[in-house]
Amino acid sequence: MSAPENKKSKHPDSGESAEGSKEKSLNFIQKIIEDDNATGKHDGRVHTRFPPEPNGYLHIGHAKSICLNFGLAAKYDGKCNLRFDDTNPTKEDVEYVESIQEDIRWLGFDWEERLFHASDYFDKLHEYAVTLIEKGLAYVDSQTPEQIRETRGSLTEPGTNSPFRDRSIEENLDLFTKMKDGEFEEGSQVLRAKIDMTSPNMNMRDPIIYRIRKVPHDRTGDKWCIYPMYDFTHGLSDSLEGITHSICTLEFENHRPLYDWFLEALDVFHPQQIEFARLNLNYTVMSKRKLLDLVDKGLVDGWDDPRMPTISGLRRRGYTPESIRDFCEEIGVAKYNSKVDATKLENAVRDHLNKVAPRRMAVLDPIKVVIENYPEGETELLEAVNNPEDPDAGTREIPFSRELYIEREDFMEDPPKKFFRLGPGREVRLRYAYYITCQDFIKDPETGEVVELRCTYDPETKGGKSSDGRKVRGTIHWVSAAHSKNVPVRNYDRLFIKENPLKLKKTQEDFTENLNPDSLTVLENVRVEPSLFEAESGERFQFERHGYYCSDIKDSKPDSPVFNRIVNLKDTWSKVQKKK
Ligand code: ATP
Ligand code: MG
Repeated sequence: MSAPENKKSKHPDSGESAEGSKEKSLNFIQKIIEDDNATGKHDGRVHTRFPPEPNGYLHIGHAKSICLNFGLAAKYDGKCNLRFDDTNPTKEDVEYVESIQEDIRWLGFDWEERLFHASDYFDKLHEYAVTLIEKGLAYVDSQTPEQIRETRGSLTEPGTNSPFRDRSIEENLDLFTKMKDGEFEEGSQVLRAKIDMTSPNMNMRDPIIYRIRKVPHDRTGDKWCIYPMYDFTHGLSDSLEGITHSICTLEFENHRPLYDWFLEALDVFHPQQIEFARLNLNYTVMSKRKLLDLVDKGLVDGWDDPRMPTISGLRRRGYTPESIRDFCEEIGVAKYNSKVDATKLENAVRDHLNKVAPRRMAVLDPIKVVIENYPEGETELLEAVNNPEDPDAGTREIPFSRELYIEREDFMEDPPKKFFRLGPGREVRLRYAYYITCQDFIKDPETGEVVELRCTYDPETKGGKSSDGRKVRGTIHWVSAAHSKNVPVRNYDRLFIKENPLKLKKTQEDFTENLNPDSLTVLENVRVEPSLFEAESGERFQFERHGYYCSDIKDSKPDSPVFNRIVNLKDTWSKVQKKK
């Protein structure tokens, strides 16, 4: 949701011109791009990229980066590449590579023919490394990893030069060739950029650009036993692809001088690195390592568990791509880190589904109602509106009969005055059906629990309207006992009970201790109206008065759906948390 125009134009950073006041204000990255386009930098070209490391499934934080990169390309008639950052030879996994592509497509974005891998550039990167050596800007260091670490200095102390720093260009070229040819052991030599061991920026203290790893790579096999480091690879891959604006998260801000240094030292096309704040959401964790932990320990049902903040989890839960894109748009891009309330994400899907999800009746905790004056064995079909928000959604027919189910909580034996639902002698409207009055109730003699309500209906109130102008306050939902079916419903809730699951109490050892024990409750006795039996896998509905539900894409079978709760109709979480 955007702020009202008059409020927005008062914002000092709105960046809005008077004549453009109808347009949404530009975010700081859009401003940079528009300034670049105005000065003719990159000839007005906009080319971005999304560069995931294929070591896990994408999460909602990645969605923000995807929406940003692909969104900017779309807005400025540019292009966005997908590039797998596969410099690390051990971690690649086909499952991850495939899921990442599926998730980006599902979100609604297309890299067309521009799918790249950092490993596509290994030859070129090797040439660049040789060029740096030839320019006297890189050297082979034969110190041990410990010595390299110890001589790096600290934030308060400068580093010291390696005794191998002043090797001749010839010697460096020879040693680098031997590294490449496998003549050295892992860890015995590295190639380092020759920058400044006293730089206040630790990243500039002769960073390593190549290391020996005697492991084959998924895509290049055993062609290489030396692999380039991330900082070296990333900027040069951007340059090779002609990326104009290389957007990354804030933790890379102090890597930018190094990003620029490589491009200048090699005198190649120079993209601009721009940093923005990563998305942090409360009540969940977002690092792939932590998410993998949950998967490996079996604490969730895989990466696509509907409680996971992964894109595949949100998809399975029932989130729509539109709602995720709206959410990313709404939270915007900033230059400072902050935490976004999970409620915002939930509101986004609620808002979208309110417009598009058909309404259905489902009784989650049923109690039987017998309409004593309705003929036995008779059924009539009543017309129900599919979505009051969408006139094109039409109507459907639902069967009504003598025996029904309603929600247990819609009856009270001894209700207070303000309880506008059923109680002895009280009248309510059954949605799309009739007015009914409770005449009596039957209790289980052993438990004392109310097990059945005896009611009468008023045949003059068909469609829920009385002919004599008599009004009832309450409208409740229902299903016909004989025509409804029992389906499993999974009520999902937030995965963690703590706003910041990574903040541990003294008595806690691990963030998994903050998992919400009630994040999944399976309801076994839910009765749903007939039209829900044939729900397509992945189809989303509003269960009237409850919330939004999606037929599970993994476990639903034809004619036997399993439903996942996406969100409640209203935000109940905030209230519950306050009470606790
Ligand atoms: P994680 O820390 O979750 O493992 P990562 O940064 O290591 O994430 P990458 O695969 O390297 O994951 O990320 C691909 C792109 O997505 C990068 O450009 C990164 O900046 C961006 N990204 C990752 N996490 C977030 C986030 N929480 N918010 C916004 N962008 C993100
Ligand atoms: Mg990473």
